Amino acid sequence: MTIERGHPGFTHDLHSVHHYLIQPNPLIRNDELNLLSKFGLEYVHPGAFQTTILSDFSTLEVFDDLDRTCQSIARHSEKDAEAYRDLAMLGARVLPMLMAGMYTVPLPLHVTLGMLSGNEDGRRIIDMMFRSPLQVVDELFESDHIKIHMIRSATEHTLGFPDDMGNGLCVLLTTALQHNFKTGMPIGGSGALAAALARCIEYHGGTIIKNAKVEKVLTSGGRATGLLTTDGDEYAARDAVVASIHPRNLDKFVDGIPDTVVARGKRTIQSPYGIIKIDGGLKEPLKKNMPSHISEDSIVKWIFADNLRDFLKAFDPMRHGEINYDRPLLAGSDMQIPGRSPEDNPLLYLLQHVPYKLADGGAQKWDEIKERVADNMIEKAAYFMPNLTPDNILFRLVDSPLDMERHSPNSMVDGDACGLGFHLFQFGGMRPTPELSNYAVPNVEGLYLSGPFMHPGGGVFSIGRPVAIKMFDDMGIDFDKVVAQ
Ligand SMILES: Cc1cc2nc3c(=O)[nH]c(=O)nc-3n(C[C@H](O)[C@H](O)[C@H](O)COP(=O)(O)OP(=O)(O)OC[C@H]3O[C@@H](n4cnc5c(N)ncnc54)[C@H](O)[C@@H]3O)c2cc1C
Repeated sequence: MTIERGHPGFTHDLHSVHHYLIQPNPLIRNDELNLLSKFGLEYVHPGAFQTTILSDFSTLEVFDDLDRTCQSIARHSEKDAEAYRDLAMLGARVLPMLMAGMYTVPLPLHVTLGMLSGNEDGRRIIDMMFRSPLQVVDELFESDHIKIHMIRSATEHTLGFPDDMGNGLCVLLTTALQHNFKTGMPIGGSGALAAALARCIEYHGGTIIKNAKVEKVLTSGGRATGLLTTDGDEYAARDAVVASIHPRNLDKFVDGIPDTVVARGKRTIQSPYGIIKIDGGLKEPLKKNMPSHISEDSIVKWIFADNLRDFLKAFDPMRHGEINYDRPLLAGSDMQIPGRSPEDNPLLYLLQHVPYKLADGGAQKWDEIKERVADNMIEKAAYFMPNLTPDNILFRLVDSPLDMERHSPNSMVDGDACGLGFHLFQFGGMRPTPELSNYAVPNVEGLYLSGPFMHPGGGVFSIGRPVAIKMFDDMGIDFDKVVAQ
């Protein structure tokens, strides 16, 4: 969603900014719904440069071009450059197969594992699936700087810990995506995707009702028959109801689901930490303490450590419900996007990874401390961006993980920006639970689930595509024929 907030004329993305996970989706790649060709969705594709800058200001650059990336890594370690090339080439070989399973109804995990075990590349994938990101990078690389870059890339997407078992595949996935797809930013902001989808729905005769809060999915005779809003309005369903209801909240919205399915949904596990975000406006662009050859386009990872040990310690306070004020895991900077502010002033977008439930005071404590945490984020970030000072900030708004949950109470439960933890037991045909992973709800015919807690996961993937595939299948409609029209 992109909204004006903070100051007239400044439009901010409430959540996502970069749409990298949707780019390989046939919805965008093949423009299946004509969102790009007919309904006004337009992406800019900033250069795929990522730079990791450590506290001693040493840098590591990763480009979309593999040879250039390996040259950058070779400045740290020749051996690591070769290991990285091997990893990227493995990624390129397996990406088509991984992508084929990502935007469609997932197979049960045992079937996926059976298929993968048939060849050497597949067996390496299984091996990584079961390991932690730290184990994967420790085995592959010798340089701390490369290890830090790889772990930061993997964990910032999964909101996991470096030593979380069952998360290691993210190291391969982020590398493969980096060299095969460019990220995209919709012109007009992240909300431009929703706006294009809305135009598509209306063009085909659909009606969108805004500002209505759903209280209940209506059911009758084991079938979803419609929706009831908190205002008491009822909407009848013709073919189906598609709802974004977190597995933990299913029984609040729907009656008649088997107890075992409800109980299993409540046992799902959220990501171990969340995000606090500052949306702001700046008077002038930020100056960055980095070598002049690094492109302004580069997505920079600011690391308050110059060795792996200290970097890993930065995660530790979050394991105990504490905020890391000394070595915050920060991301973001200024964004100069024409048309998104009155005088084209830069927007400020700054994140820190933080726990949702605070050891001292629980999640509710966030309302009391979020401004103080934001002050610290700005002070710390000024180490890398020296003119990020109060006199350069026109205004700022702070969203804590508790605020994220308030914006999105049925997908971002416990403020989880990913909807649900990325753990092996919540992956593919196990996400969010084996019983719900094919998007249908047992005992409630015609009810389908969508949202970041479903396969393939948290992020702008367009989970609606696999949901549509499942619905069409149930209704005897040929999905491929429809999207080919
Ligand atoms: C700070 C932040 C940064 C992020 N950055 C990125 C990024 O750069 N790239 C990326 O790919 N992903 C990013 N993500 C994740 C991404 O934003 C989410 O995965 C995505 O928004 C999920 O989209 P969704 O439409 O399924 O759910 P949501 O965006 O959560 O939308 C659900 C909607 O349902 C509404 N709703 C809830 N309950 C009811 C009800 N009872 N009745 C009616 N409506 C209801 C909510 O108000 C909300 O509008 C980020 C997330 C956060 C929090």
